[in-house]
Amino acid sequence: MDLKLDLGFGSVTKKEKLNENTLYDMLIIGTGPAGLNAALYAKRKGLEVGVFTSKQGGQVADTSIVENYLGITDISGEALVQQFVAHVNQLKVPVLQDTFVNKIIQNDNGFFELSVSGDRHFKTKTLVVATGSNPRKLGVPGEESLTGKGVSYCAICDGPLFQDLDVIVSGGGNSAVEAAIDLSKVARKVTIVHRSKLRADQIVIDKMDSIDNIDLLIETQILEVLGDNKVSGVRAKDKNTGEEKVIEAQGVFIEIGYLPNNELVKSLVKLNDHGEIIVNSKNETNVGGIFAAGDVTDVPYKQIVISASEGAKAALSANDYLNKLQNDNA
Ligand SMILES: Cc1cc2nc3c(=O)[nH]c(=O)nc-3n(C[C@H](O)[C@H](O)[C@H](O)COP(=O)(O)OP(=O)(O)OC[C@H]3O[C@@H](n4cnc5c(N)ncnc54)[C@H](O)[C@@H]3O)c2cc1C
Repeated sequence: MDLKLDLGFGSVTKKEKLNENTLYDMLIIGTGPAGLNAALYAKRKGLEVGVFTSKQGGQVADTSIVENYLGITDISGEALVQQFVAHVNQLKVPVLQDTFVNKIIQNDNGFFELSVSGDRHFKTKTLVVATGSNPRKLGVPGEESLTGKGVSYCAICDGPLFQDLDVIVSGGGNSAVEAAIDLSKVARKVTIVHRSKLRADQIVIDKMDSIDNIDLLIETQILEVLGDNKVSGVRAKDKNTGEEKVIEAQGVFIEIGYLPNNELVKSLVKLNDHGEIIVNSKNETNVGGIFAAGDVTDVPYKQIVISASEGAKAALSANDYLNKLQNDNA
């Protein structure tokens, strides 16, 4: 069967290299930085590896500009994905694109069988789950069309772009208040807008209270993000009085959490209260042979460089596991 392989600089059509009759050493789900770096490290260890992805590049492909990846001053998300993919393709790792992994079963021998879209099935001794996450959306008009034009889901990533400008942070948990504190060092004014009371820890709230350029608007619901080609503010409603007002700002940071893509493994491996896969420092889950890396895990700070390094660790750890398996069977 033919499939499309992106070689980084344009696409070519190549023969599928993932074989349903092969027992793979490692199959990886996801081609965000975690999955791609796992593939790179696994292949360089000489493992028989294959990758499935529903969306090449994961969240990085949706990022307008990346300015915090070591060694690269600034690059578009799309160009960074191209570089990642070109590197992995150089090693001839088979990547099955536009493919959803629907189901994972652990067989009696401890190996795993993956059912993927198109009713195909693949077998593997180890599995790296690098399915990432999606930022939670507000779901208001203007949010989608102005994403990358002032609407951001990542204060760590995009904060420096708002030097001396006014920004709004939507959210009331620790990550929102911490984002506001970080942004206050860069922006002229930060307004936290949250539809109910703050849920952040008191110590974080105390710190926020001590900062002059942070305003707080609780029990206020954002109804719309305003702006033509770039953000000019939000329209919000006071939930007690019903009064609507426009809050002017050039940036809107939506910090209301992430939804980890755990659907596939939630009945297989242990998750924390946020639905993230619990991993130890070697990226092992509670199930032998299943490793996880990146935004889908409970490792803090959802960043490209962190996901990439976690992917490397997962692959090296799986390699150790395979070596042990081989020694035990010798
Ligand atoms: C708008 C935005 C801007 C950002 N900007 C920055 C930035 O400037 N700097 C920075 O460091 N970080 C930034 N981040 C965060 C960063 O993009 C993420 O932390 C990183 O991409 C996570 O990598 P990952 O590999 O863990 O997962 P993801 O990038 O989420 O990739 C997950 C992969 O899994 C695949 N997948 C999921 N489920 C399945 C399935 N069932 N079958 C097959 N494939 C599946 C997806 O198709 C995808 O390929 C930003 C995030 C967003 C949303």
